[in-house]
Amino acid sequence: MARYTDAVCRMCRREGAKLFLKGERCYSDKCSFTRRAYAPGQHGQNRKKISEYGIQMREKQKTRRYYGVLESQFEGYFNEAERQPGMTGENLLRICESRLDNIVYRLGLATSRAEARQLVVHGHFNVNGKRVDIPSYQVKAGDVVSVGEKLRASDKLKAIVETCGARPVPMWLDMNKETYEAKVVRLPNREDIDLDVQELLIVEYYSK
Ligand code: SF4
Repeated sequence: MARYTDAVCRMCRREGAKLFLKGERCYSDKCSFTRRAYAPGQHGQNRKKISEYGIQMREKQKTRRYYGVLESQFEGYFNEAERQPGMTGENLLRICESRLDNIVYRLGLATSRAEARQLVVHGHFNVNGKRVDIPSYQVKAGDVVSVGEKLRASDKLKAIVETCGARPVPMWLDMNKETYEAKVVRLPNREDIDLDVQELLIVEYYSK
């Protein structure tokens, strides 16, 4: 599958926001966005005024990149969000948050969503006791996410948990830090999602 292979820090600088794509580095003063908070490239510091369409597009790109979702899949999520009752923008963010790789990241069991994706693909996580190796798997309220035996016994997990220790686990997930098992108490509302994005702009972008 096609994946973005350029330096990921460029994405943060392009979107004008920290997208937390590089794990530990994102929380340190080595963060490229902290050091150079302007768009990459020769003319990054003197960008022209951006159009309304451009603003909407950037908001969509920012959200898509934050969750590490490809364009076609993100559009599919939008279509699904439109079919669901309630606010389309909030539904869209909830669908992104319900991805298994995001939940692994939110639980502090991976330093970045990219690492979470890799761990899931390698079969290190179970949902309701069954191994799931699909990062986009949609987790539901009441599901129990657990770490596979091999990873649980590894030094890698200890190192990850140590690195992510300061990152709070959101209220909608109930994590047992002894067993590394977590219950999805409920799916998140908009106020549970700490992403600085105006989802209405994404709705407008796709509604053209
Ligand atoms: Fe973005 Fe993290 Fe790179 Fe900072 S270190 S620019 S937050 S990916």
